[in-house]
Amino acid sequence: MRALVKTGGGDEDLELRELPEPSPDPDQVKLSIAAAGICGTDIEIIKGTWPCRPPVVLGHEFCGTVAEVGSRVKRFKPGDRVVAANPAKTCGMCYHCLAGNPFMCPERVSVGYMIDGAFAEYLCIDARQCHLIPTHVSFREMALGEPLSVAVHAVIERTTVHAADLVLVSGPGCVGLLTAQIAKLEGATVIVAGIEKDERRLACARELGADAVVNVSRENLLDVVQDYSSGRGADLVYECAGSAASLANCWEAVRKEGTLVPLGVHPGPIQTDFNKITLKELRVIGCYSYVWTSWQRSIHLLAEGKVDTKKLVTHEFPLHQFREAFRATQDGTAIKVVFIPRL
Ligand SMILES: [Zn+2]
Ligand SMILES: [Zn+2]
Repeated sequence: MRALVKTGGGDEDLELRELPEPSPDPDQVKLSIAAAGICGTDIEIIKGTWPCRPPVVLGHEFCGTVAEVGSRVKRFKPGDRVVAANPAKTCGMCYHCLAGNPFMCPERVSVGYMIDGAFAEYLCIDARQCHLIPTHVSFREMALGEPLSVAVHAVIERTTVHAADLVLVSGPGCVGLLTAQIAKLEGATVIVAGIEKDERRLACARELGADAVVNVSRENLLDVVQDYSSGRGADLVYECAGSAASLANCWEAVRKEGTLVPLGVHPGPIQTDFNKITLKELRVIGCYSYVWTSWQRSIHLLAEGKVDTKKLVTHEFPLHQFREAFRATQDGTAIKVVFIPRL
C-alpha cells in the first residue's frame, strides 16, 4: 500500500513509500482510509518541532471503512463506516485511564507520529477507539471529527458558556472555527479574531454565524470587544492560534473574573504576562485533546446538522501530491486539507 512516511528527524524528511498492508491484532479493526485531515500538529512534525518516532506514517485525523476485524472484535464488521480517535494505546490501569481521560496516561501512544498513522491506504486501530458514523454523515464531514471533538471538549465539557455571554475566539483555524460554532450553539455572542493571512478563514467564520470577525492587523480587537460588552471585556476567551501575540490579545480582551482557555499549543516556551491571572482574578482552564464523550457529542451534532464541517474542507489531495497539500495548509489558502488516499 502507499503511505506517506516521515523518514527522519529533520525538516521535510518526507517520502511516499510502498509498505506492506498491516493486519489487525485480535482487538483491532483494519480500516480502509477514506479521508485523513492535515492538522497543525502535522506541520510541526514535518518541521521537526513536535516529537515523533521516524520512520513513521503520519496522519492522526481519519475515518474509513472497516476492511477486516480482529478475532475478538464484536462491535464492528467489514463494511462499517467508522471514525477513530487517539490515543492508540494506553496502560488502561493508571489514575487517568480509569478516570476516563486516557490522553493524560503516562504510557499513551498516539497514532500518526509515535506509531504509523492514516496518510496511507490502510490502518489498524483498536476497536474501542472507533465510533460508527451515521449513514447520512459523509466521510468528508467526519474527517473533521478530531478538531470538532477538541472544540466540544473545550466548550461543552471543560467550560460552561451561558446564553448571552460574550465569547472571543482568537485564531480561526479549524479548532477555532468549530469552537466558535459550538459557542454559538450554546447561545453566546461570538467574536472571531485572526491576522492578515486568515482573511479566508474569517470570511468563513462569518458564514458560520460569528457575530463579528476582526482582522487584528487592521482593526483594534479590544475596541470591538469593548463595544460588544459595554466595556467589560469578553466573558470567555478561547486562544486557538498558539502564538504569543494572540495570547497577549487574549489577556487584554478577557474581562475581570472571566475565563481564558489556552487551546493552541505553542512551539516552545513563550513570554507572557502571568500577572493578569492574579490581578484580574481569571480562571485559566487548560484544554488538550478530548475524551470518549466528546466524540459521541461530536457525532450527534453532525448527525443533527447542528455543526457544519463541510465548509471547512477546502482542499482534497491524493497522497502523492503531499507537497502541494502541506503548502496549502501552511500558506493560508486552505482551511482544511484532506488526503483521499484512494484518489
Ligand atoms: Zn490534530
Ligand atoms: Zn494509563
